[in-house]
Amino acid sequence: MSANVAALLYLAAGVLFILALRGLSSPATSRQGNLYGMIGMTIAILTTLGLAEPTATSWILIVLGLGIGGFIGAKTAREIPMTMMPELVAAFHSLVGLAAVFVAASALYAPSAFGILVDPSDPSFGIKAGSLLEMSLGVAIGAITFTGSVIAFSKLSGRMSGKPILLPMRHVINAALGLLLIFVIYSFIVSAGSAWLFWLVVVLALLLGVLIIIPIGGADMPVVVSMLNSYSGWAAAGIGFTLGNVALIITGALVGSSGAILSYIMCKAMNRQFLSVIAGGFGGETVAAAGGGGEQKPVKLGSAEDAAYVMKNAAKVIIVPGYGMAVAQAQHALREMGDALKKAGVEVKYAIHPVAGRMPGHMNVLLAEANVPYDEVFELEDINSEFAQADAVYVIGANDVVNPAAEDDKSSPIYGMPVLQVWKAGTVFFNKRSLASGYAGIDNPVFYRDNTVMVLGDAKKMTEEIVKALAE
Ligand code: NDP
Repeated sequence: MSANVAALLYLAAGVLFILALRGLSSPATSRQGNLYGMIGMTIAILTTLGLAEPTATSWILIVLGLGIGGFIGAKTAREIPMTMMPELVAAFHSLVGLAAVFVAASALYAPSAFGILVDPSDPSFGIKAGSLLEMSLGVAIGAITFTGSVIAFSKLSGRMSGKPILLPMRHVINAALGLLLIFVIYSFIVSAGSAWLFWLVVVLALLLGVLIIIPIGGADMPVVVSMLNSYSGWAAAGIGFTLGNVALIITGALVGSSGAILSYIMCKAMNRQFLSVIAGGFGGETVAAAGGGGEQKPVKLGSAEDAAYVMKNAAKVIIVPGYGMAVAQAQHALREMGDALKKAGVEVKYAIHPVAGRMPGHMNVLLAEANVPYDEVFELEDINSEFAQADAVYVIGANDVVNPAAEDDKSSPIYGMPVLQVWKAGTVFFNKRSLASGYAGIDNPVFYRDNTVMVLGDAKKMTEEIVKALAE
């Protein structure tokens, strides 16, 4: 395949990736967006194969690689429950980082295969300085992404405590390590590609990845996941430069910049400064607060029949889903409940907090899966003023995202995060299994308010019982 044809095909793939991102920005067009992405990726892979013109042995290796990787990817994606998606994403990011390290190492040890020698006819002149720079940046970002993602995966999956690990003088240590890393990268380039300096870059970057993520507490993990998403994009772009592959540079830059924008949007949603998230330490007190217990305050308990009775007689009901709905897979029962209420003449709306659940868009995906009409689903800023006019609210498996401490308790670790003001509604039916805290590990004053009725139980079971009671 000629280089011009390949460039054109890569451009087409790049445009399809941009259309994919555009499509993914709304649940209504997300399937189409995925399709564009798949077509773009197929074009990119076929073009790369057409350009490389592999030998018979290489074909075997490529097919094996695609087959094994594709099988593991497809099997994992099919089997993984939605609730484990953030840790899966973190695990996948770690592989992108690792791939960047391996590609850079291959380029270092077989520079002629990558066409990066100063003089292709005489390897003794070494590797081009520009290629050494690309290689070292790619490997540094890749290694940071790898260990950072492994730590994020361990924290999200509960293999490691979500509590921040705060080393004394961590900012000084991290800054010193960062400066040392830059100095070693410089020395690596000046040495014209010394292997031991290359591996020193790898070790320092691996260490930095661990040190950057361990001080970040559970409540900031959503931002970390999207930040690592961004890093993995830049690592891929770094590989793209090493390989001289335009498609990879475009894709890496798209992932890198969209991840960075998502991190910014999430920080805004949680009212956090991006730099203070990276600095870490947020959420340190939360675990202690969760374990603290404190005195038992009285709550009002209610049944499915109580909830059905009040909601059926309401003019307007707002439903607030959270992580518990995802765990219980209650979205289908919830849609049935919404349908039954609408049939009874009740106006029904769904309110989605930007960090409800465990990944951005978590609730939107589940509600879309259950065919909840998009025009009934509202984002926080569009619906928050409506709680005061709602006769009833049904909070299903949400907790932190409806916690008023974020507004009025300066000592709360979630202080400053915008929350859904459910307590302003006539009656709040709060469904969860117990009075336990949510992800941030803090108590929720809404449980104890006069207008709150706790309907305790598994989200799916309770919602099905409400549906039954509505039908009677
Ligand atoms: P929370 O984690 O605050 O609360 C979820 C609640 O669901 C728990 O209190 C739990 O209470 C309840 N629950 C669990 N299982 C069930 C079940 N089977 N049936 C009924 N209830 C159940 O969730 P929110 O969605 O309100 O908030 C999200 C939190 O996660 C925020 O703190 C956010 O920062 C964080 N986060 C968000 C990410 C994102 O990108 N969206 C990523 C990572 C973290 P009980 O045990 O009593 O049932």
